[in-house]
Amino acid sequence: MQGELYVYNTLTKKKEKFQALTPPFVGMYVCGPTVYNDVHIGNCRTFISFDIVFRYLQHLGYKVRYVRNITDVGHLENDADNGEDKIAKKAKLENLEPMEIVQKYTNGFHDVMKAFNVLSPSIEPTATAHLVEQIETTQQIIDKGFAYVSNGSVYFDVEKFAKTNHYGELSGRKIDELISATRENLDGQDDKKSSLDFALWKQASPEHIMQWNSPWGKGFPGWHLECSVMSTKYLGEQFDIHGGGMDLKFPHHECEIAQNKAANGKEAVKYWLHANMLTLNGEKMSKSTGKFFLPSQLFTGESEFVSKAYSPMTVRFFMMQCHYASTLDFSDEALQAAEKGFKRILAATALLPELKTSENSQVDVTELSKRCYDSMNDDFNTPMVVATLFDAVKEINLVKQGSKTISVEHVAVLQKLFNDFLIDIMGIIPEEEKGNDVANGLMEVILDLRKDAKQNKNYTMSDKIRDELKALNIVIKDTKEGTEWTYEK
Ligand code: AMP
Ligand code: ZN
Repeated sequence: MQGELYVYNTLTKKKEKFQALTPPFVGMYVCGPTVYNDVHIGNCRTFISFDIVFRYLQHLGYKVRYVRNITDVGHLENDADNGEDKIAKKAKLENLEPMEIVQKYTNGFHDVMKAFNVLSPSIEPTATAHLVEQIETTQQIIDKGFAYVSNGSVYFDVEKFAKTNHYGELSGRKIDELISATRENLDGQDDKKSSLDFALWKQASPEHIMQWNSPWGKGFPGWHLECSVMSTKYLGEQFDIHGGGMDLKFPHHECEIAQNKAANGKEAVKYWLHANMLTLNGEKMSKSTGKFFLPSQLFTGESEFVSKAYSPMTVRFFMMQCHYASTLDFSDEALQAAEKGFKRILAATALLPELKTSENSQVDVTELSKRCYDSMNDDFNTPMVVATLFDAVKEINLVKQGSKTISVEHVAVLQKLFNDFLIDIMGIIPEEEKGNDVANGLMEVILDLRKDAKQNKNYTMSDKIRDELKALNIVIKDTKEGTEWTYEK
């Protein structure tokens, strides 16, 4: 039933059959957040995308060691080698120790991941806890002749590396074009032989708060280095999957590839997977442009971009309706539609235990399960899984209405389908509905009373109920399927 998994490898630009290096073990590394401020909903999309990969591999029976790091040093502004350290800058601004900033935003990140029901990785290493290893790898790359010391800093020699290796393979950049594009702006970076070179170790000025001793003087590691070092330490010189957001392909992942190859002569990663961006009116959601909002703003509805509050599970369901490798544009309307769809699924699953069953089953449950596996096996195609779950909902409603029959065994298969795909694999738990049980129950009573009033032609009463609910921001709408209600801001 489960079939074979195919993943789109962004390095080879092909869909490839997934074959673990040492089954049943799978090593997966995903670049984690730089903890200098709250994660926005765009960052969350990337981590949710890889949560699906982690969950599905486990569902297939793999023993996954999932490493997702915390960047707590060395990520400089504008991803440049001469910007200010993002964490040190925030520490000055908030008048806190850099490690207080790191702790504060790591805690915040964990809270958000929990709200979205994202599973914790197996290992969550930090860059500052791996300085010894980063210094060792830097030395190794110098010894191999692919890095040079300059004025207390160590730079990776990209042009030298590119003579014998393919630099730019992942991002599709051509070394000659990169060289000519960067020739002119060497100003202010004279420590480097070429502005394409990137820092493995950076000399710290005396006022730089975060600095450590090294063979090259006091300094701090370059951002790209930590991922090469920590993935190698915990997953080995070669491992199965490396993930991250699409925007990290260049220079971050390209530099990681070069560092690994230079240090130990091997291609470290078998499958590169990249999650696409969450956009807002077509533009990448980003802190630097101010076009972003925080998960907490969505959960409370306190944002100019939304008309009401949305639960974390509704937001997660909204994200599942788009393939991870496609851009997803955020809009209030799309979230409203997702909320409605999610409620339909929950209503149908609630019907399952009370369906009238018969010997003869007219629902093709095998086909529904097969379609869900085929979709997940096709590079984690969650929107297709959601479409199949909606088909299952249709079938349940047909049985409920008495237009189709279903057997006890097939009810159990459908129950398993929702448990496996909605809850375990897509990570969507119907908790929200449980919390609202009382409200839902009360609304059912009130709407029944209104229905009775209408049937008895007591329109004064039915209108009164509608108006008084409206005063409480509860809007009701009569549809063919019955009366629906929503709570509006
Ligand atoms: P950062 O903390 O900036 O390193 O970002 C953490 C992760 O979020 C990285 O994998 C980024 O690629 C990802 N990311 C940043 N912006 C977005 C966005 N608008 N949509 C999806 N992922 C994003
Ligand atoms: Zn990384």
